[in-house]
Amino acid sequence: MRAFTYERARTPAEAAEAAAAAARPGAKFIAGGTNLLDLMKLEIETPTHLVDVQDLKLDQIEPTTEGGLRIGATVTNTTLASDPRVRRDYGVLTRAIVAGASGQLRNKATTAGNLLQRTRCPYFYDTNQPCNKRRPGSGCAAIGGYSRQLGVIGTSDACIATHPGDMAVAMRVLDATVETVDAAGQTRAIPIADFHRLWGDTPQIDTNLKTGELITAVTLPPPIGGTHLYRKVRDRASYAYALVSVAAVIRPDGSGRVAIGGIAPRPWRIEAADAAMPQGSRAVADRLMAGARPTADNAFKVPLVERTLAAAMAEAKAQAQAQTTKVTA
Ligand code: SF4
Repeated sequence: MRAFTYERARTPAEAAEAAAAAARPGAKFIAGGTNLLDLMKLEIETPTHLVDVQDLKLDQIEPTTEGGLRIGATVTNTTLASDPRVRRDYGVLTRAIVAGASGQLRNKATTAGNLLQRTRCPYFYDTNQPCNKRRPGSGCAAIGGYSRQLGVIGTSDACIATHPGDMAVAMRVLDATVETVDAAGQTRAIPIADFHRLWGDTPQIDTNLKTGELITAVTLPPPIGGTHLYRKVRDRASYAYALVSVAAVIRPDGSGRVAIGGIAPRPWRIEAADAAMPQGSRAVADRLMAGARPTADNAFKVPLVERTLAAAMAEAKAQAQAQTTKVTA
């Protein structure tokens, strides 16, 4: 691990200012550190300065005046998933979080950190391999290499990695907003749809945050009802990243919303596909996956999206029928 300096900030603006001041040659915020510390040990991330944001009092979940919830940036994944309001009104979020990582990691990992975690492409972590994300311009070992886990849509000729998280997929289906502050004290609200970038020819840049811009909270709009589901298909039953995941909110009439994880640089949602939900999983999947560019290794993900979606829709229907039977009885 490379040497670095460290400070604890007292306010969000002070943290953003400290990070911006140290941005050349490089500063990073740290809270749970569950991804960043691994990357620093491998010298994939080499910050010269760490700004600890754990004392900023961003660890509360509060109701908003609009009827939603404001989740502080350092609320842990465990706290968020177990909050009674989240479990009752945003079940897809609880289900997505508990499908990720392990209990120990969820106790440390934070809301902002979860959004900012970096890809798990194996070549990104192997510093002997070319990787445009780790070293821009060096090439991509995954293209033509082992790509079973990697992306099938929204990728580019420079990078075919995926966003690895589960929480962000649920945030996307809920239309969350990411709140930030910069070194000048300016705040910004970024729709989750615009937060993660497609790789294009700059895969080293994961998000649309500016240098030194600090996430302070994630806001959820008022509850939208419906049956909330998160289905994750993976190579082993726990502690594994999604091959494909489906976050869905489905109403009794079959309408709803869906976002897909494990296939793209960001949670993959196409609003035109939501509109096709009453027509069934095939119609939705056709719209979601139009323009997919899978490799020979991961072509199975394209039909797997449709099958996982069909399973989620069937589960929602069964739950709705069970509820009706209970009420009638
Ligand atoms: Fe690097 Fe992206 Fe290629 Fe993986 S897919 S080796 S992260 S450039």
